[in-house]
Amino acid sequence: MAMAYSPVFRAELECVMNGGVSAFPLDRIGETKSLPSWPKRLRYCPDCANEDTAIHGETYWHRLHQLPGMIYCTKHSMRLADSRVAVHETTTNFYAASDVIILEDSDDDNINAHDDLTYHKAKFLKIGKESEWLLNEGMSVDWNFDFQTKYKRLLREKDIVTIQGVADYDLITDRFNDYWGEDFLKTLYSAMDDTRDWIRQLYAARIVTFKPIYHILLMCFLKGSVKAFLESDPSENPFGKGPWPCENPICGHCGTDGCKNTEIRYLNGVATGFFQCDRCGMLYKQVKRKGKTGNRLIVNYGHVWTGEMSRCLIDKKMNVAETAGILKCTPHVVESHMKKLGLRVEKKYFRSPQPIGWKSETAEFHKERVLKIYEQYQEVTFSMLRKHAPGTYAYLSKHDPAWLREHLIHESRRADSREADRQLLKQIQAAVEWIQNEGNKERQLTFGYIARVAGEKEQELKYSKLKRPLTKTYLDAVVESREEWLRRRITAIRRNKDGCEPVSIADIKREMSLKPNTYRRYHDFIKRLIDELNK
Ligand SMILES: [Zn+2]
Ligand SMILES: [Zn+2]
Repeated sequence: MAMAYSPVFRAELECVMNGGVSAFPLDRIGETKSLPSWPKRLRYCPDCANEDTAIHGETYWHRLHQLPGMIYCTKHSMRLADSRVAVHETTTNFYAASDVIILEDSDDDNINAHDDLTYHKAKFLKIGKESEWLLNEGMSVDWNFDFQTKYKRLLREKDIVTIQGVADYDLITDRFNDYWGEDFLKTLYSAMDDTRDWIRQLYAARIVTFKPIYHILLMCFLKGSVKAFLESDPSENPFGKGPWPCENPICGHCGTDGCKNTEIRYLNGVATGFFQCDRCGMLYKQVKRKGKTGNRLIVNYGHVWTGEMSRCLIDKKMNVAETAGILKCTPHVVESHMKKLGLRVEKKYFRSPQPIGWKSETAEFHKERVLKIYEQYQEVTFSMLRKHAPGTYAYLSKHDPAWLREHLIHESRRADSREADRQLLKQIQAAVEWIQNEGNKERQLTFGYIARVAGEKEQELKYSKLKRPLTKTYLDAVVESREEWLRRRITAIRRNKDGCEPVSIADIKREMSLKPNTYRRYHDFIKRLIDELNK
C-alpha cells in the first residue's frame, strides 16, 4: 500500500499509522525502536469511551489517542486519561479496552490536572487535530516529493535561509520557537521524553529519521497546517513564479505579466534576476537578498518604448516633457535615451530640470530624486545622495527613514562597487581623452583639471578614488607632476623647432608663459632638461 510514497515519508507514515495501538492485530506494533516516543500507558478519552459504549455496546482503544504528543481528545477537547496498561505490555499481550477502562474510575489525576499540559491545551489540540488529519487523509496524499527541498524553499519564502538556501540554524530555531512558544515545545518534548535537537538536523540526511511529530511541527510553522503545507507549491525560483509583470508603462502587460526570467546571477548571497517582456522587449533587473527584495530597475526599455520615443521626438517634434508624458516616465529618462541615440537635448530644459524648491519640501520630491539616481547608477549610496541630491538624505531620514533604508545601499556592502569603479573609470577616461583631443593640451594634466572636465568635484573624486582601484590606477598613471608636464611641454617645443636649432630659456618663457614663481622653483630642472634636449 505504501509503495508510491517517498522513501523519506513512508517510514514516518507507517509510524503514524501504527504508532498508536490498534484494537486489532497487535502484531503490527512490535517496532520497539519507536517505543520511547510513545506514551508510557495506553490512553483514552472518558467521553469517547462513554460514546463507544452507548453506540457499540463496548469501548475500544483509539489509535489517535496513542500518538506521540496527544494530550487531549480532539473530539471532546478533553484531557486523555492514562489507563493501567503499559504500552510495552501491548507488544506481547492483548488488552481489550472494555476490560481495562472502568469509567467510574476515570476522573483520575490526569484529567483534572492543572499543570503545564493544561496551560498549553490549545497547542496540544492543534497538534492533535493535525495528527488526526494525517491519520484520516494521509493515505490519499501523494507523498512523492522531496521534503528537504520543499522545507528549504518555504524557509526561503519566510526569509529564514539565504537566497541560495544556506541555513542559519540559530535563526530557524528562534523563529520556530517564536511560532510554537519555547515553553510549549519544552512541555511537548518532555511529555514525549524527547531530547533530540532535531531542528538543527533539518538539512542533514538525518531528516529521514524525523518523527512524524517533527514534520507536523515544521509544516504548521511553515504554512499553518499540514494540509496547507501539502497544498503549497513554493517555487524553485527565488523571485517566485512567472510570468512576472512588465515594467514598461506603455506596454499592455505593464504591472500584470508578460515577463520571463531570462537569467539569475548569484553573488555573495545576493540574487540578481533579469526579466524580459516578450511583447515589448523591456528588460529589468531585481535584486534579492535574505529578507530584502530590491526595486525593479529597468536595464533596457525595449523596442516598443524606444520606437514610441523616436516617433514622439522626431516624427511629431514633441519636446522632452511632452514625450515623457506620452511615455509615462520622468523627463530624465527621455533625456538619457536621447543622449544614447545622439539626439540633441534642449538646452533650456537641461539647465534647470525643475525650478529649485518648487516642491522641495515634499517626500515625493525627495523620493523622485533618489529614484532618479537609482535609474542612472543602478544604486544609491549616502555619498551619491550627498552629491546628486543635497538635502534629500536629511529630509528622508527625518520623514520616511524606512523608505530611505530600503533604497540606500550601505557603502561598505556595495555588491557592484566594481561596476561603479568601471563606470567612474570610463567617465575619467572620456574626460582625459577629451582634454587630449579637444581641450587645452598645453595645460598640465592635473587632478583638478580632469575632475572639472569629468564633471566631478576635485575633493569628491579624490575621496572616491580611494575606494575605486581601477580608477585610482588610471589616474595615478595619467595625472602629471610639474616635472612631467614641463618635460612634455618643453620636449614638444624642442620638436617644433626647425632642425637642430637649440631650444632656449627665452623660447620656453614665451611659449609656456610660466609664472615667475614656477620658473624660479623649477629653474634647475628646466636647465638640465634643455641641455639634455639640445644634445
Ligand atoms: Zn473524546
Ligand atoms: Zn511589456
